Amino acid sequence: MPLNKPHSFKKALLGAGKNAINATFRAAIMPDLLSEIDWQEHLKSKFFKKKGNETLCIYCETKIANCWDHFYSVRSKDKGIINANSITNLVPACGSCNDSRGNKDWRKWIESSAKGSPKSKRVNRRKLNAIICNIQNYEKTYRQSFVNYQKLLSHKDNKKLLGLNRKYEGFRSKILMILEDAQATANDIRMILETKEKTKVQRQK
Ligand SMILES: [Zn+2]
Repeated sequence: MPLNKPHSFKKALLGAGKNAINATFRAAIMPDLLSEIDWQEHLKSKFFKKKGNETLCIYCETKIANCWDHFYSVRSKDKGIINANSITNLVPACGSCNDSRGNKDWRKWIESSAKGSPKSKRVNRRKLNAIICNIQNYEKTYRQSFVNYQKLLSHKDNKKLLGLNRKYEGFRSKILMILEDAQATANDIRMILETKEKTKVQRQK
């Protein structure tokens, strides 16, 4: 495999930093419905393949799972907030499958050649078919219901929620604005350092 160009940090704050902040803001308001007992039971699910005592990633079944992937995206604009922390919406995944999938439809992604997808990890056809079949069965067994909180809440609570959401959104925008300023400053710092580096390289020639 050819070695890719090393990662550039030029837009680190506005790229990875912004994504992390948005994800954290989404996660922080999710209703927390997990209990320790559910957790242990869920891990024993027959759909999660094991290697010794470790659980394998549900998508590639090659790497050991080291995180939980939200099987369905935590938010759906038209359907309201999904019952995102219902335990069956969490599936074990390896970091690279989790990052690569993001919010993509699992079925399309798993056979795509996106970097980090099971296909790009060279999982062979037969195994990939078995993995797809296993995930489809999982999906059929644990249909996720979308919870439309707007419909569930009283008029008074909806009004309160609207106000709080605006306030919350305000905090997020403020942080993102600060991040933009920080990025501009980071660019200035880097430019000074790069100029210094370049003159050093030229002197050495
Ligand atoms: Zn994986």
